[in-house]
Amino acid sequence: MKDIDYDALKKRGFLRQKQEGYFVLRTRMANGNYHKEHLEKIAEIAKKYARGFVHATTRQGLEMPFIKYEDIDRVECELKAAGILTGTSGPRLRTTTTCPGNNWCKAGLVDTFRLSDRIEKELGICCPMDLPHKFKTAISGCPNSCTRVENSDIGIHGSVDIASADKKIGYKLYIGGCGGRTPRLGLKLEKVFSEDEALKIIERVIFFYKQNAKPRQRLGVLIEETGKDGFLKSII
Ligand code: SF4
Repeated sequence: MKDIDYDALKKRGFLRQKQEGYFVLRTRMANGNYHKEHLEKIAEIAKKYARGFVHATTRQGLEMPFIKYEDIDRVECELKAAGILTGTSGPRLRTTTTCPGNNWCKAGLVDTFRLSDRIEKELGICCPMDLPHKFKTAISGCPNSCTRVENSDIGIHGSVDIASADKKIGYKLYIGGCGGRTPRLGLKLEKVFSEDEALKIIERVIFFYKQNAKPRQRLGVLIEETGKDGFLKSII
């Protein structure tokens, strides 16, 4: 197992596991929605190349442990042919975690799937974009925040703008939160934004982070270093 570029494999969705010679295959699908054809293919791969089971990740992906190094290229070809995307790890953008929002949740105020698709397709901000450190985005359809937006680098939830005469629905944003060993609440932006405004802010936050962060520096730490006012000036 010498001379293996583990980081390149990680970027392709194959993560070295604790057991020597085996890799976890991490898959992802936009908004965590897997169609039956995807699930059938994943079950087939699990049976053929792994140990016949899959694990549901906290970021709404499906992963399969115990893939052998020599099978990686074949597995990757089969996944691509079936239109299944792979997840990632390391200093990169992770898959956006989204709850169903108003697609079927009774409490949902906004279409979380549409916003997530616009971030990926219109802004080109999608997994596995290289960044100074891990970077997580979460979208919730309402202030219940089932995807824990307050603890994400960029967190967005649907909200009613009670200050507006017609009580319009828009988005609240939290920037610079994280979980892990040193959890941090994101900076709450004190306004309910329209969808287009939210997209502009997201784009600027990513740009600011790419331009200014040191390697392995999370966004929340960078904001602290920059100062809240200076940061807000750059993104709004
Ligand atoms: S955050 Fe709101 S819309 Fe999303 S699943 Fe939870 S209750 Fe439903």
